[in-house]
Amino acid sequence: SSSSLPYRRVVLKLSGESFCRSREGGISMAEVEATSKQIKTIVDQGVELAIVCGGGNILRGKQFAAVSEAIKTPTAHYMGMLATCINGLALQDALENAQVPTRLQTAIRMENVAEPFIRRRCLRHLEKKRVVILAAGTGSPFVTTDTAAALRARELEADVVLKATRVDGIYSEDPERNPHAVRYSEISYKDVLQKGLQVMDAQAVHHCMEAKIPILVFNFQREGNMLRAVMGEKVGTLVHA
Ligand code: UDP
Repeated sequence: SSSSLPYRRVVLKLSGESFCRSREGGISMAEVEATSKQIKTIVDQGVELAIVCGGGNILRGKQFAAVSEAIKTPTAHYMGMLATCINGLALQDALENAQVPTRLQTAIRMENVAEPFIRRRCLRHLEKKRVVILAAGTGSPFVTTDTAAALRARELEADVVLKATRVDGIYSEDPERNPHAVRYSEISYKDVLQKGLQVMDAQAVHHCMEAKIPILVFNFQREGNMLRAVMGEKVGTLVHA
């Protein structure tokens, strides 16, 4: 029952990579559907869930701005935010196809396809156990969807930020470069920031630290991990005070 859940309200950050095949770009509905099946397992536990969509599978503002002198950096960031809306729409249909009721709310208005993000309305949906998909990040350029996830977690008073990635957690060094890198099972916010560990952007970690919201970084591709994460089992790396 939901009374035994370690986390009552969860913000799940799905990076763009969970919308496409490994080392590819664009959207793969097969991947989105697989992710949605995992999401259904946690919704079935009775958690209140808000999902912040990344957009890196389509476009990252910083990278795109570097490609040409013609494109202004803020424009590239707005394009990145719109990319997260494309992902959000795909996720919404995949979840509803799996019988999970959803609402899509965006930080940039697009009333023909989604509700605007309104904190109190979002909370109401969560109370009614609708999964709220949050897209367009913060609505402002120069930040990432990690920061959006941290900010939404703060304003929605979430109990945890789950960061779904393709690595098993936070390592002392890049595990793809150094095979001797060790994975932390727990680490403090301060250590993540001081060691400059590349897991979540520093602003996001800072917000979670200020609000004392733990961050769990885990590999969403391992079957059952999302459920384990929500049930408070030891999986990935837990960042806390
Ligand atoms: N973005 C932004 N403001 C926000 C959130 C995102 O400008 O509040 C832009 C930014 O350019 C970013 C892109 O949207 O690169 C896609 O998001 P992100 O890179 O965080 O996606 P992920 O790495 O999770 O796939």
